[in-house]
Amino acid sequence: MTSKNNLPIYWSPDYVLDGGVETRTKSGPLAQILMDGEIPGVDLITPRPITREELLVVHGEQYIERLVNGERPELTRSIFASTGGVRDALDAMFVHGKAGSLSSGLHHAKRDHDEGFCYINGLALAALRAISKHGVRKIAVLDTDAHCGGGTFQLVGENENVVLADVSCNSYDIWRPNSDRHFLEVVNSANEYLDSVKRALKHIEHVDALIYNAGMDPFEDCSTGGMPGITREVLAERERLVAQWCEDTKTPAMFVLAGGYGGPKLDLDGVSRLHLPTIREFARIRITPKSKN
Ligand SMILES: [Zn+2]
Repeated sequence: MTSKNNLPIYWSPDYVLDGGVETRTKSGPLAQILMDGEIPGVDLITPRPITREELLVVHGEQYIERLVNGERPELTRSIFASTGGVRDALDAMFVHGKAGSLSSGLHHAKRDHDEGFCYINGLALAALRAISKHGVRKIAVLDTDAHCGGGTFQLVGENENVVLADVSCNSYDIWRPNSDRHFLEVVNSANEYLDSVKRALKHIEHVDALIYNAGMDPFEDCSTGGMPGITREVLAERERLVAQWCEDTKTPAMFVLAGGYGGPKLDLDGVSRLHLPTIREFARIRITPKSKN
């Protein structure tokens, strides 16, 4: 049960099956922090796994068959659980105004193959579901992972109902904007970072709902993606800006976790804790969905 105004967050122990990379393992310690009650106003909910049919909306049949019948059944189960969490968070956002899933590893996944630790593009899946099931006319995907979201662009970049905004600090998986619905900036220094985020928020104004890929790998101590000068304080301010924008514009929003990797100065618990500001800010805000008319 979710109390009124609480933030529904989807997670199950299946998310961390087939560990290995932080993309999957970091949600375990993070869920424990939430179960311990460190952030008030959060409800942790077990999602329904995604189905094969739902995946075929964004991915090719042969790729999904390979995934289902692959040699890593725990990886498959983890992906189905965490993608189900993305879908359930999307649906919950239209009820509560805000929601999240501790899913990670979405934006590089292409139609017919995995890439960069990403297997299923839950961002594209959620955007298409917002349009087909919830009647949304303009859905935004805001991506602040350190790397570019070329998978999302491949899958929904041509969809006229989808507005893309991507703030990166590394050109991996870069894509080429070809419409006024597209915003992409790869920043070269930490000084430019928050201004780029503000421009991205300006770009998505007037959308009906937001899917937020809240990547923490721009953090300077992340071994993959980190940029010197992007501190915990900068990322906390970024999350405040995004969440406050949602509240001020009355835009229903959901988040997923995206990148965040360890390094010599950052262990798994530290990676998990990098994501707390996103949850804290979304727990804080109140969003009364605006009328569609
Ligand atoms: Zn990344």
